[in-house]
Amino acid sequence: MDSARTALRLGAKESIIVYRRSEQELLAREEEVEHAKEEGIHFQLLTNPIRFIGGDRALTGVECIRMELGEPDESGRRRPVPISGSEFTIKVDTVVIAIGNGPHPLVPRTTKGLKLSQRGNIVADPKTGQTSKEGVFAGGDIVTGAATVIEAMGAGKRAAAAIDRYLKEKKE
Ligand SMILES: Cc1cc2nc3c(=O)[nH]c(=O)nc-3n(C[C@H](O)[C@H](O)[C@H](O)COP(=O)(O)OP(=O)(O)OC[C@H]3O[C@@H](n4cnc5c(N)ncnc54)[C@H](O)[C@@H]3O)c2cc1C
Repeated sequence: MDSARTALRLGAKESIIVYRRSEQELLAREEEVEHAKEEGIHFQLLTNPIRFIGGDRALTGVECIRMELGEPDESGRRRPVPISGSEFTIKVDTVVIAIGNGPHPLVPRTTKGLKLSQRGNIVADPKTGQTSKEGVFAGGDIVTGAATVIEAMGAGKRAAAAIDRYLKEKKE
């Protein structure tokens, strides 16, 4: 949503969001969708990109396929199913891929003894940020999963206070 709207503000002639499910399943706040529409973003819903088209250097299009909604998947949302033979091309010169995010495994991989959740987030005490490894504190998205700046700042402040206490106790 941010990328599509920013592209328009930076001078793109047209900005299109391609999404494989319908508006009902869109993982965006309602007002974000409304504001995007007001700003002139076009939505290609129930559409999935299949391949980029272009020469050696320049992108000229994205081949897409129309989708329909099938049975709900493990997320509880209806699974998008491609409609065979419905391929079509959208002319574009820039593509921003936005397919979700998740915890980077580098820190837990290089820091043995960090307890992780099933989703790969670092388990930390919400009041102090203390992790399962003594003297290691964590907060923000890596603990909660995708959340907000305010929550990350709050966790940072609580962890800073806890680190201060930890270091002072160690010194004594
Ligand atoms: C597209 C998008 C739009 C969003 N819009 C909003 C919004 O409107 N309002 C809102 O409140 N929130 C929004 N969020 C969520 C918000 O950005 C996050 O919740 C917040 O940034 C989390 O802060 P953080 O400090 O936990 O993590 P991050 O901001 O992700 O910071 C982690 C930092 O650690 C660095 N890092 C990672 N690994 C290493 C390493 N091994 N060594 C050193 N550095 C490392 C990364 O480069 C990064 O700079 C949005 C998120 C996205 C993706």
